[in-house]
Order: sequence, then C-alpha cells, then structure tokens
Amino acid sequence: MIVWESYEHFDGNRTADCFVCSINFNPLNSTWCLSLMYGQLHTREFRMDGDIIVHNGGCHCRKVRWRVQAPKNIVVWDCNCSICSMRGSVHFIVPSKMFELLGDSKEFLTTYTFGTHTAKHTFCKVCGITSFYFPRSNPDGIAITFKCVDPGTLSHIEIKHYDGKNWEISYDQSGVASCSKLNEEVK
Ligand SMILES: [Zn+2]
Repeated sequence: MIVWESYEHFDGNRTADCFVCSINFNPLNSTWCLSLMYGQLHTREFRMDGDIIVHNGGCHCRKVRWRVQAPKNIVVWDCNCSICSMRGSVHFIVPSKMFELLGDSKEFLTTYTFGTHTAKHTFCKVCGITSFYFPRSNPDGIAITFKCVDPGTLSHIEIKHYDGKNWEISYDQSGVASCSKLNEEVK
C-alpha cells in the first residue's frame, strides 16, 4: 500500500484549503503535493511526467555539483529506514543515464555503506551533505535529494512514503524499482 504522506504543516489537521486553487481537500483521500513556487499545498494529480528538463544541484559548499534530467513534476520518496530518517532524506530516483557529475566533483565525494553494503551513501568530504546517492532499491539509478536541486526548476513534488523499516515488503509493493527505468524500458 502506498501511503500519501501528510506534510508537516498539516499534522493534526486533516482537511485544508489549498492556497493556490482554494480547493478544500482531505489528505487521506486525495493525492496532493507541495507547490514549491508558492510554498503552499496544492491538490492535483501529479506524476513523474511532463517535459524532461535539466535540473542543476549539488552540496552545500558547492564542491559537488551535478545536473540531472527529470520532469518538473516529480515523485519523491520519504523513507523511514535507519539512515534516511536520521538524515531527513527525501529523494527522487532517476535512471543513471540521466545524471551527470560536473567538473571535479568526484574528488570531493566519499562513501558510507552499512548493512548489505548495496546502497552507496555518497557525501561531500567538505560539507557532509548527501546531495545524491546510489540506492539499494535501484542499482541502475541515482537517488537525488530533492532539496539539493537548485531553486527554480522543480514545480510540484508528490511525496510518497517508503517503509524502509520493512524494506523488502515496501520494495515489492511500492513500485520503486521502476523509477530508474527509462520510458522505453517500461513499455
Ligand atoms: Zn560540499
């Protein structure tokens, strides 16, 4: 089951008016998203679709910089596994081909692994920020920390919950594996 995560603004308050479209909605039975443009909630159906554009991003000190091709409207995973919950990681997953490290970024990266050691948790040696990493769920993909994308290119974020504490079950039920497939591979 996919749980539509309620955003922190609405904890304890199950209905709300969208500030953009004024629709009253209930987060329990509608899909909804965070409109970054207005910083407010907005009810609409959003998927990882629309035109693919280039997003730039990186770490805090800017030693690690990258570009990623992805839609403007994305689906992000809010995971509760041991490391994501500590780090507050909310990420979207793209096929590896869509991701490119820029300049000498590689020199500033280091990697932490644990457990199965499948996921490669890369982070900047200078500022410590994980702006992207190689997820266990998608060996052919890259997980991008959505808050590390430079402002201005993401329009809508749909938040999905990933139950990383019950990783295997969530892996089977969430469909996360398809996130790193190119469109032609999905068809
Ligand atoms: Zn850095």
